[in-house]
Amino acid sequence: MTDSIFTKIIKREIPADILHEDGHCVAIRDIHPQAKAHFLVIPKKQIARLAAAGDEDHTLLGHLLQTARRVAEKQGLSADGYRVVINSGANAGETVPHLHLHVLGGERLKDQFG
Ligand code: 5GP
Repeated sequence: MTDSIFTKIIKREIPADILHEDGHCVAIRDIHPQAKAHFLVIPKKQIARLAAAGDEDHTLLGHLLQTARRVAEKQGLSADGYRVVINSGANAGETVPHLHLHVLGGERLKDQFG
């Protein structure tokens, strides 16, 4: 499989503002923030999209959510709230084919589902 841009960031081939790293994932600031605070939680395992995750990824998926929560807390987003979004595939507008959680906050977000 060709390395995605996120795998290149994980391998330090491309620079990024890394907020968190552990054995299973990284959290980086989004290069084109859609809110005052916008970071991505990315598994080191290159899963193309949420729909391509398997039952064996159960623990990893939980870890990604827990990491989103922990990094949001460290970034001071917890008190006022934040949004976690996953775009899975073409209809959702996923542009990087490597699973990632968007975490958006730091301001009142527009209602996207109304
Ligand atoms: P998607 O549309 O696939 O759900 O989101 C991909 C996100 O990755 C976008 O918000 C985009 O701004 C971000 N992104 C794309 N390339 C880079 C990059 O090279 N560095 C960083 N930090 N973010 C990126």
